[in-house]
Amino acid sequence: MAIPCLSLHAVSKTFPNGVTALAGLDLDVREGETLTLLGPSGCGKSTVLRLIAGLAKPSAGAITWADPMARKNLGVVFQDPTLLPWASVFDNVYLPLRLAGVSRAKAQPRIMEALARVGLADFANALPRELSGGMKMRCAIARALVTKPSLILMDEPFAALDEVTRFRLNDDLVALKRDLGATIVFVTHSIYESAFLSTRIVVMSKPRGRIVDEIEIDSELPRDAEFRLSEAFSNICRRASRALREATGEAA
Ligand code: ADP
Repeated sequence: MAIPCLSLHAVSKTFPNGVTALAGLDLDVREGETLTLLGPSGCGKSTVLRLIAGLAKPSAGAITWADPMARKNLGVVFQDPTLLPWASVFDNVYLPLRLAGVSRAKAQPRIMEALARVGLADFANALPRELSGGMKMRCAIARALVTKPSLILMDEPFAALDEVTRFRLNDDLVALKRDLGATIVFVTHSIYESAFLSTRIVVMSKPRGRIVDEIEIDSELPRDAEFRLSEAFSNICRRASRALREATGEAA
């Protein structure tokens, strides 16, 4: 079994308004996996991601990293691509390198490589408003990849996209993951998306982000259009769906 690259130990998070989003959460993220946190809105998925990203601090418990340097170079993608509207696609992807003090000339090949990986090489000079929703998200993904992070955190990145675009980006993310070998933690409330992308699904529920099931998925399964129609895929969906229903007290 792969070693954990980070572990949450009995992590709790209570916000100043008194809402407890997580209570005593134990979770390992294993090297090289695509781990999906699946659960209904408000169950604490984003809070887990924000704690891992260092954007919030646990109220209790601890997060430990196998390689403490890895936490300094995370790729983070949120539902909103948050591109700078006045800057070109190239300059948006340049931003993290610019903030790290890398010159534009030196960054150029890395930016173009990241853009090529997401199919935007021909749009380097375009402005965000000239891009479709899917292309904007590709740009945000290129920006997350450009620093070559070993861990990528994705919070509902495709939730605002139409289903055709979403499927295409799911396909592309699988290919990207194969090429990069990075570890991915992906938050979604879509059972289908979690079943397609993951090597492991952690099903979460309210209240306080409790883990109600954990589904290991054979990483050797081909993740292509056929997979979406396979028995293995529908079995994963059925199990995740049952776990969600049982957690909310509905009959399975
Ligand atoms: P999810 O990502 O599963 O939709 P979140 O982690 O965003 O869930 O939220 C979990 C719970 O914590 C929800 O009840 C939400 O309203 C609450 N919450 C999240 N962020 C804050 C915050 N900054 N202040 C107060 N409550 C918050």
